[in-house]
Amino acid sequence: MSNIVAIVGRPNVGKSTFFNRLIGERQSIVDNISGVTRDRQYGASYWNGKNFTVVDTGGFVPHSDDVFEAAIREQVKIAVDEASVIIFLVDVTTGITDLDEEVANLLRRSKKPVFLVVNKVDNGQRLFEANEFWSLGFENTLFLSALTGSGSGEILDAVADHLSDDEQPKEDSLPRFAIVGQPNVGKSSLTNALLGEDRNIVTEIAGTTRDSIDALYTKFDKEFILVDTAGIRKKAKVHENLEFYSVLRAIKAIEDCDVCILMIDAQTGVESQDQAIFRLAQRRNKGIVILVNKWDLVEKSTNTARDVEKVIKERIAPFTDVPVVFVSVHEKTRIFRAIEVALEVYENRNRKVKTSELNELLLELIEKMPPPAHKGRHIKIKYVTQLPLAYPAFAFFCNHPAHVKENYRQFLENQLRKNYNFAGVPISIFFRQK
Ligand code: GDP
Ligand code: GDP
Repeated sequence: MSNIVAIVGRPNVGKSTFFNRLIGERQSIVDNISGVTRDRQYGASYWNGKNFTVVDTGGFVPHSDDVFEAAIREQVKIAVDEASVIIFLVDVTTGITDLDEEVANLLRRSKKPVFLVVNKVDNGQRLFEANEFWSLGFENTLFLSALTGSGSGEILDAVADHLSDDEQPKEDSLPRFAIVGQPNVGKSSLTNALLGEDRNIVTEIAGTTRDSIDALYTKFDKEFILVDTAGIRKKAKVHENLEFYSVLRAIKAIEDCDVCILMIDAQTGVESQDQAIFRLAQRRNKGIVILVNKWDLVEKSTNTARDVEKVIKERIAPFTDVPVVFVSVHEKTRIFRAIEVALEVYENRNRKVKTSELNELLLELIEKMPPPAHKGRHIKIKYVTQLPLAYPAFAFFCNHPAHVKENYRQFLENQLRKNYNFAGVPISIFFRQK
């Protein structure tokens, strides 16, 4: 089940301020990736044990005044269709505007959970004024100061109640692959090359949501499901917000898949949009395979593939244990290999290591190279176990979990990768009090 939280509302109500707060907190805790652009439109977040993707719809609204109201209305409709929870942000300093009323009318009809969040409630006086917004008729009306963060914990508690739990291991289900990438990279061409027009090999499976149609592939003894993306069935009604719609569909496809097949263009390499998709798939603990498409258009000498791969790895660092396959959908080269690699990544993502084996291997390594002491206190790791989740996650039990440093976490991850094949899958490592 996908966990997508969309923040909608007029310009200047504070959407991006709130968005940055939701993304930023997690970013500082979980990793220290540099060079990520600040004005991202979507990102992964985490609260009360729930992982989810937040979308700042403000990043998608065209700036000219005449199209803008129509665009916002359409955007709200798309968000209602595609998101799991909607946060409708309004501004206490302007009071209720006509556009707020209109958006409220659209959202009241939604079957999805909607939270009306009154922002810029920085002090007691404004809290008093904010009561005006109860008249919009939302049962879930909450107050926020995105600037100071006051109120955001309560909002997240309420939102998280409507999100699905962390992904559990699935029994007997087929691998779910999502083909994602920028416009024109070759996603539809690849889908068509795989599924073709042959109805005998394509079975449409009605997805969990009204509009999504997943496709079952069963050829050459391989079986998997291609998760629907915008490319499979384009929604005709979207005019102003094609980009918003495509991005939301891509996010949803990533949410719903086990392995993300990220296509990049051989001629442009990894661009910031590709990095954003990669980062999202990584943070949402999905398997990843990178396909470098249109390889036919590249002039090649002996080491071209090796050199290109090196540059790609630099762009996706620090998570670089990711398979890269050079394909040409046009010439049908290595498409089948790409699928084999995606199936391998799927297997890696499901890999379970026995507790006894883990402890035997890692405790010895840890003894040889223990975590550095913190303020004179020795950190002792006593026990390791893999958690029963759909993706590789390991808990290390120790006396001072908060004081284990990032580089030691990286050391443990490297040891796991060295001893087991986790190619293409992010590994989560937690330190817990024993
Ligand atoms: P967006 O267009 O909806 O994404 O709005 P922004 O996040 O860009 O915010 C618009 C303006 O409102 C900026 O100047 C913010 O600093 C300001 N702002 C956002 N949240 C708050 C808040 O909680 N209190 C106050 N006083 N200002 C805020
Ligand atoms: P999408 O927007 O990602 O679904 O991309 P499409 O599948 O529609 O492809 C965009 C364009 O790239 C089309 O003109 C394709 O024919 C072309 N294309 C796709 N794959 C290849 C390839 O491997 N080599 C070359 N030269 N062109 C390709």
